[in-house]
Amino acid sequence: MSAATKPAPPIREAFTELYGHRPAGVWAAPGRVNLIGEYTDFNEGFVMPLALPHTAVAAVARRDDGILRLHSADIEGPVVELAVDSLTPLSDGGWAAYPAGVVWALRDAGHTVGGADVHLASTVPTGAGLSSSAALEVVTALALNDLYELGLPRRELALLAQRAENAFVGVPCGVMDQMASAACAAGHVLHLDCRDLSVRQVPFDLAGDGLTLLVVDTRVKHALGDGAYAERRAGCEAGARALGVSHLRDVPYAELPAALPRLADDTVRRYVRHVVSDDHRVERVIALLDAGDVRGIGPVLTEGHASLRDDLRISCPELDLVVDTACASGALGARMTGGGFGGSAIVLAEAADAESLTKSVTEAFAAAGHAAPRVFPAVASAGARRL
Ligand code: ADP
Ligand code: MG
Repeated sequence: MSAATKPAPPIREAFTELYGHRPAGVWAAPGRVNLIGEYTDFNEGFVMPLALPHTAVAAVARRDDGILRLHSADIEGPVVELAVDSLTPLSDGGWAAYPAGVVWALRDAGHTVGGADVHLASTVPTGAGLSSSAALEVVTALALNDLYELGLPRRELALLAQRAENAFVGVPCGVMDQMASAACAAGHVLHLDCRDLSVRQVPFDLAGDGLTLLVVDTRVKHALGDGAYAERRAGCEAGARALGVSHLRDVPYAELPAALPRLADDTVRRYVRHVVSDDHRVERVIALLDAGDVRGIGPVLTEGHASLRDDLRISCPELDLVVDTACASGALGARMTGGGFGGSAIVLAEAADAESLTKSVTEAFAAAGHAAPRVFPAVASAGARRL
């Protein structure tokens, strides 16, 4: 990321300076935090993300010569220039693989998309488990959908963005991040069924209830995470096979006590217990929100953290320290969010306690010799849009 010495020009002006003509429009797509339902998306289960106010913003113009030019205000380096008809999956294009992958996925699905000039800038922290990558993909997909008049619905754009990340960049992620960025609504949390991608916007007005949801970015990313996702995914698939279901989503929570002894492998048993119980925690959180008991979701979040720590084993000392310190300092509940092994945790708290909790967590990090975490409120914000 560049250490800007002067304030960046507004995105339209920056585009014009860079490419010598004006953009056709400007689009934005947010990062996200997931309230509950972790590692459930690829098990065709349930998740509940909300969009952050932090967005990737793209100024874009169509080109009719098949050339794709990509530039990020946040990355040192020249404009990346590619020919759309020779985009190659897994060609290690660095950051440019995310937007280029979207062009590839659209074209590979048979949509008529030619070239484009793209200039991006993002306020989504990268590598913090807040889905800066999905924001980049979704903003590109939405801009091309408009400029090439494809008329694709949000869920289709999210699926194509996921395909870009899976097949073009080479990251085996589920569909939650792209759906969150594409389909979240301000003041709501998105109840997403990852089987059929049906969504329900659930009102989530924390400020109105005197509450806040803090994001604590630990600013660490442990290398262990690289192979762990694929390993957890394979373990979940093995569990589903052993239980005779297509996906773990098909194991009802009430049948978990009977299902677990049928799994010979201790690791697989732990993964299954996590996924089935986290799907159930999504149901519990929905029921509590529907009943107007927002404070009641706190303990469910903390329980979810214990499951991620002890059964899925994807937490790390920094994330546990956030959760333990927050809960010991008066938070209503807390959990790690996202892929794990670093990244961010969320803390549900009385708004009046936000400052003292931030101080407690920051002091605990200092005492443990960790770098200071970055703490900010997660205000449920709008999904992808044209500006
Ligand atoms: P996360 O999605 O959790 O932030 P990822 O590792 O999935 O983390 O994605 C981060 C990558 O996305 C960065 O390494 C970079 O390649 C790309 N990226 C994110 N934001 C930007 C940006 N503003 N400009 C260029 N590339 C970006
Ligand atoms: Mg990502």
